[in-house]
Amino acid sequence: MKAKSGDFVLPGDILGVSEQFIPAEWTYDDEGEIKSLVVGVVSRDDKNKRISVVPQTDSPAELKNDTHIMGQIMEVRGQRALVKIDSIKGNRRKLPVSFVGGIHVSQAKKGYLSKLTDAFHIGDIIEAKITKMVGLDSIDLKTSQNELGVIKAMCTRCRHFMKQTGKNDVTCPHCDNREKRKLSSNYQV
Ligand SMILES: [Zn+2]
Repeated sequence: MKAKSGDFVLPGDILGVSEQFIPAEWTYDDEGEIKSLVVGVVSRDDKNKRISVVPQTDSPAELKNDTHIMGQIMEVRGQRALVKIDSIKGNRRKLPVSFVGGIHVSQAKKGYLSKLTDAFHIGDIIEAKITKMVGLDSIDLKTSQNELGVIKAMCTRCRHFMKQTGKNDVTCPHCDNREKRKLSSNYQV
């Protein structure tokens, strides 16, 4: 099964196999099968053995390893925080579809972190780096570098954004609640 240039594809559609093609823009390698990340049209370059998808929504941005993204924490459960990926850093265009990423507890910060709720809570705005494109709704992220982590922390009691009061501490200006986070060196409040 091999997609041709001009084929209309949906997220998850198989475009070819990685033995024959290099997965390029808006595609990912799923255990040897190249699949589309977005709704769009296939562009196959037989000479250079590259297969890519041109998204229906005009967007020059690309999600790939080492891309920095901005997102919001949706859920913190056990060993993994789920992140709604809103945009690519430095690119104002909206992504053609919404993506969900995950941060494993071992990738949140340098050194030992006993529980993920010491790093993130629901509603926090974060900057993170893509480490692996696993699939459509499963993009591995990390925040261990200094400039990565929480950009704005949301108070778990009253939902206001909190002020930085220490290296890993934030305090709510409304209810004086004090919490821990893995803060970015670019923390904004
Ligand atoms: Zn509060």
